[in-house]
Amino acid sequence: MARPILVTSALPYANGPPHFGHLTGAYLPADIFVRYQRLIGSEVVFICGTDEHGVGVTLAAEQEGVPYQEVVDRWHKVWLDACTRLGIEFDNFSQTSRRDPHFGLSQEFFRRLFHNGHLEKKETQQYYSAATDRFLADRYVRGTCYICGHENARGDECPKCGSWLESSKLLDPRSALDPDEKLELRDAWQFEIDLAPFKDDPAIKPWLDEFRKGLKPNVVTFVFDKTIEGEGLESRPISRDLPWGVPIPEQDLDGESIGDVAGKVLYVWFEAPIGYISSTIEWARREDRDWRRYWIRKPGEEGARLIHFIGKDNITFHCILWPAMLAWQTLERDFEGRQGPGPGEEYVRPENVPANEFLNLEGRKFSKSEGWYIDVQDFLERYDADMARYYLCAAMPETADSDFLWREFKVRTDELANTFGNFASRVLKFAAKYFENRVPPLVGLEDEAQAIAAAIETRTQALVDHIENYRFRRALAEFRGLAEDGDKFMDRTKPWQLRKTDLDAAGSSIHLALQLLPPLSVLAAPFVPVLSARLRAMLNLSERTPGPLLPAERLEAGHALGEAAVLVEKVPDEQIEAEVAALRARAGDAPS
Ligand SMILES: [Zn+2]
Repeated sequence: MARPILVTSALPYANGPPHFGHLTGAYLPADIFVRYQRLIGSEVVFICGTDEHGVGVTLAAEQEGVPYQEVVDRWHKVWLDACTRLGIEFDNFSQTSRRDPHFGLSQEFFRRLFHNGHLEKKETQQYYSAATDRFLADRYVRGTCYICGHENARGDECPKCGSWLESSKLLDPRSALDPDEKLELRDAWQFEIDLAPFKDDPAIKPWLDEFRKGLKPNVVTFVFDKTIEGEGLESRPISRDLPWGVPIPEQDLDGESIGDVAGKVLYVWFEAPIGYISSTIEWARREDRDWRRYWIRKPGEEGARLIHFIGKDNITFHCILWPAMLAWQTLERDFEGRQGPGPGEEYVRPENVPANEFLNLEGRKFSKSEGWYIDVQDFLERYDADMARYYLCAAMPETADSDFLWREFKVRTDELANTFGNFASRVLKFAAKYFENRVPPLVGLEDEAQAIAAAIETRTQALVDHIENYRFRRALAEFRGLAEDGDKFMDRTKPWQLRKTDLDAAGSSIHLALQLLPPLSVLAAPFVPVLSARLRAMLNLSERTPGPLLPAERLEAGHALGEAAVLVEKVPDEQIEAEVAALRARAGDAPS
């Protein structure tokens, strides 16, 4: 029996809108993969939600003077709308600020790790604001980067050199809320997770060796060469002093006090990925399904296939920290209120983490503040979602950074119209005009019939192989390639000439050309679902029953076709010129 598949997209941070870089990195490829799995009849669930805790949210809300919840609810809605309009169909899109079940489950993660000896209290020094009577976590502190000298570094990260920073070491420190306030350094403490045992832990090693084999080369380099064998793994803080987040639990698994944890919450990097599980639980409750089927492996079972689609900035978390958190949840005893794995069971660990590189815009990073962006909602007012999906997949940064280029958007969408759109329209119009809009009979043309069958089989198998190995650009090329095969066939058999001397021979040619259209509608479905459905309507085919893609569907002689129309509209040249001009004007007008 086939294993169920759980697909996730990185939980977006709820403090700003999505841009095409985000959508192309972790959301569109996951959606293509899920649509493909549904097509072949796999049992698959697609999970996501917004990551709503952490300093980016509290700082934004405090500067704006609104409640934290208001900020995260706003961006949650914007993200969900943008994804929905782009045809990205999650089974559940949750929020990590929803308490049930997320808070309890996150606290359970902490308590199991604490019980298993993976957490320790570490003394640190942190800036303290006397005026607001609190420790200033991470981005609440601004100052000069102690690595590159950049003057406006954030407490956790330098935007110039990209280094991870410790806020207590910043030069010329100041509060992000009030730059004039004098800050004092005070003794503090946080919980840390010790990651040093990760690479040799016998509970992790077999999984890690297997996991490595399936990863894309860019991910292997980052995780193994650069991190595990390069910088090495050490302790990382998992708590923060913040008024917004999941509180550190007060008691351990035996009901003993953990200490004075008042005011401490789980660090957002630790708690956010648990949102994948809480969002699955939310889905399962609504659909009356069993979430454990996707997350928990019983002894002797393989468990579900867990696949996390992410951008390259999340690689370390998903390949090291998160698997460590999952592996170290295992316990040989039960306890009151347990949600996760029972004795003998364990959480499944990722089978793969297909991570994309970054997509830039016309050679520069997307930046809302610099006016260098495309408003996704606005874009989708003017262009069909499928046009965006086709182009973004063709430009997907699978192995290296790539660019959204307006002129390339035109070239690629023209290519879709000229191959897929044009071939389908050509064949269907011919059938409508000369064969009473029915599939004409096939007489002779044995060699051509074989060539058509071989093209369908070869292209379909190649597409399947590419998608199953997360090579979406190459999969897309196979879909387009099948339409190109069709065009070549038409040019070779020339039904428009044959028609004048031998209508039956022209009919045979059209019969064979028509056989390419049902498989084309199927291969199109993961990438351009609306166009796929439109083509099926033109073919008068109902929705396809999920199952293997081969043997391909056939159109029998005499089958009545639907109404032929233009399948793909081209974008006018002037419109592209206007888009580029508008982008440059906006960037030129933006404060520098
Ligand atoms: Zn720096």
